[in-house]
Amino acid sequence: MFPTALDTDADLAPFVALRRDLHQHPELAFEEHRTAGVVARCLREWGYAVTEGVGGTGVVGQLRRGTGGGRLGLRADMDALPIEEASGHPWASRRMGCMHACGHDGHTAMLLAAAHRLARDGGFDGTVNLIFQPAEEGGGGALRMMDDGLFERFPCDAIFAMHNMPGVPQGQLVFRAGPMMASSDYATVRLHGTGGHGGLPHRASDPIVAAASIVMALQTVVSRNVDPLQPAVITVGAIEAGRANNVIPALARLELSVRALDPSVRQLLQDRIRALVAAQAESLGVRAEIDWRPGYAVLVNDPAQTARARTVAERHFPASQVQPQGPMLTGSEDFAFMLERVPGSYLLIGNGAGDSAGACMVHHPAYDFNDANIATGARYWVALVRDLLPSPQP
Ligand SMILES: [Zn+2]
Ligand SMILES: [Zn+2]
Repeated sequence: MFPTALDTDADLAPFVALRRDLHQHPELAFEEHRTAGVVARCLREWGYAVTEGVGGTGVVGQLRRGTGGGRLGLRADMDALPIEEASGHPWASRRMGCMHACGHDGHTAMLLAAAHRLARDGGFDGTVNLIFQPAEEGGGGALRMMDDGLFERFPCDAIFAMHNMPGVPQGQLVFRAGPMMASSDYATVRLHGTGGHGGLPHRASDPIVAAASIVMALQTVVSRNVDPLQPAVITVGAIEAGRANNVIPALARLELSVRALDPSVRQLLQDRIRALVAAQAESLGVRAEIDWRPGYAVLVNDPAQTARARTVAERHFPASQVQPQGPMLTGSEDFAFMLERVPGSYLLIGNGAGDSAGACMVHHPAYDFNDANIATGARYWVALVRDLLPSPQP
C-alpha cells in the first residue's frame, strides 16, 4: 500500500490519504489517542521499535541500521485546535469545534512518509528516533515527554523539527541560526478596588481607571525599556470589569500575552510589568495581584546543527528553494524545550504564498496543510538522516 519512492503523485497518494484521514479526525492536546494509534500501527508495521504513551499520548519509533553510534531525533506534533473548520474541503474535520488548523496532521504525515522510506530503503548508519509529540498548542507536550524520560530512554545527539509556514512559497525550506521563535508567557492582573455608586466616585476606588492606566503604561515597556533592536510584544488580550454604567465595580481583570526572543528581554518584560502594575495600582488606590504563568521558552537553533541542516537542503534542493537565514517570528513553539536539552534546529517549510490556498494563516478556520509538502518534507527528512548518519563507503 505504501510505495518507497516519493517522487510521483501515485507514490504520494497513500500519504495524502493518511493526512486527510488525520485531518478528518482531529484531536486536542493529550487526547491524540486515535492519531497516536495510527502512527504506532504504521511504524510497527514498517519494522520500527515503537514505544507508546510517552508523556501521555506521545509515540517514539526507533530504527537502527548498521553499526554506527550516531543518534538522530526528528519530531512531529500531532494535536489539533479548538476551532470550527470552514475550509469547505471534502476532508474537513468531522468533529465539531475541533480542527487541524496548524498543519500538525501534515507534519505527522510528512514524518511517516519519511519513516516508511527509511525503513524500506535504509541508506543510513546509526539510530533514528522519530518523536511524535502531543499537545504542542499550549499544552507543553514536549516537556511532558521529556519529564517521562524521552532523552534518557531515546538518547539523541541532535534533534530537528519542521513546521509549515503560510505566506512562504510551497516547499521553501527556511533555516535560521540562533533565536527563531519567541518565548510566550501569560499573566493575569487582578485589580481590587472598592465598588460603589457611579455618581459618587469619591467614595470608591475605581479599578477600571486603574486598568485603563495600566494598559497605557504597559505601552511604554517595549517603546522605552527594551533595546530597540530587540523584538518584544506585550498584548493585553482581555479586559473585564463592571456590568452597569452607574456602578463602580470592585474588581477588574486583565489578561496579558508577553513575548520575547531573548531570555534577558523576557526577564526585563516581567520585571517592568510587575513594577508598573504595582506602582500604577498604588497611585490609584487599588490593590493589584499578578498571576504570572511562564509559557514556552525562546526557541534557539544551534548554529552548528543549523549549518548541517541547511547544507543538506542546499545539496538536495535547488538554491531557489532554500532560505538560509529567515526572520525571527513572534509565534512560539515548545520544541524550544527540547532544544534546551539537545542541540538541533527547527526549520520552516513554505505552505504557499500570494493567492494560493496554502497562504491562509495557521489557526484560521479556512487554513489547510498543503499536501504537496508531504513529498518535499519527507524528501528533506530522508536526505537529512542519510547525510547526517552516512553509510560507510564500500
Ligand atoms: Zn499552532
Ligand atoms: Zn503548529
